[in-house]
Amino acid sequence: MGDSFNAPKPLILIVEDDRPIMNFMKAALRDQHYRIADVGAGRDALAYAGAYTPDVVLLDLGLPDVDGIDVIKDLRSWSDVPIIVVSARGNERSKVEALDHGADDYLTKPFGAGELLARIRVALRHSSSSPNTSLSDSKGVVSIGPLEFDAERRKVRHDGRPVQLTPIEFRLLRELVFHAGKVLTHKHLIAKAWGPKQKVESHNLRVFMATLRRKLEDDPSRPTLIVTEVGVGYRLLDEWPATAIDSYDPT
Ligand code: CA
Repeated sequence: MGDSFNAPKPLILIVEDDRPIMNFMKAALRDQHYRIADVGAGRDALAYAGAYTPDVVLLDLGLPDVDGIDVIKDLRSWSDVPIIVVSARGNERSKVEALDHGADDYLTKPFGAGELLARIRVALRHSSSSPNTSLSDSKGVVSIGPLEFDAERRKVRHDGRPVQLTPIEFRLLRELVFHAGKVLTHKHLIAKAWGPKQKVESHNLRVFMATLRRKLEDDPSRPTLIVTEVGVGYRLLDEWPATAIDSYDPT
């Protein structure tokens, strides 16, 4: 990632009141050249973040003192630190709410160590301290697996072959590519592709995603590039071959 030799190790703040999950995350991060801090309550998280400016915050939404959403709102009022929400399965609404309030991504319990590390890598890559690191090389042409994306010339190739996209498809793909590895909500993608004031429903978005997949996926019924995050949105996988593909649910 082009870190200089004396760059400090990224500081990861874990906010979690569930001891076994906390211990699991700390064990997963131990050998990864991160500094780790942990707190078990929302107010402690805010105090710690204010004092030590972590590089990534892993935030459990169900905290003993304050709602995790309120922690996100508070953090976002003064900090751009990437926030990865740790949430229970089946809680899609709270994930969307967290993302709408400025969280960057989420992990669904139970999750594997590989998935946790992949999310943190993406968060660090997209953090404001290193704007568009992954995009700044090779004259603005982004290569992700079989995909080649040239934003400036508005050209897209798949396996070396030119792909024709409609303007909406192009804007959707551009947003996914520019946030590669991160989940993007339906609301976010609709605002970027159609404009913030347009009344477009999620099912319209699904139609355009389906045509995009027909053009970019080897098997559109089993996407490996643009995966669905059920009830939340879409994610363009940016690690190729996708190392944690088993932990994604491409339905
Ligand atoms: Ca909890």
